Amino acid sequence: MSQNNLIKLACGTCKRINYYTRKNRKRVERKIELKKLCKWCSGRTVHKEAKK
Ligand SMILES: [Zn+2]
Repeated sequence: MSQNNLIKLACGTCKRINYYTRKNRKRVERKIELKKLCKWCSGRTVHKEAKK
């Protein structure tokens, strides 16, 4: 059994899911927020952990 959950990262602007990442449940308790390139917004936006 894995400790890591696959989570989705959605663009904060257009809400599209652009990335998948793994989160270690023991280490990461707060929501993930990463600045990443969104091809839909044509620029770098904040990507946040998305609910299913
Ligand atoms: Zn976007």
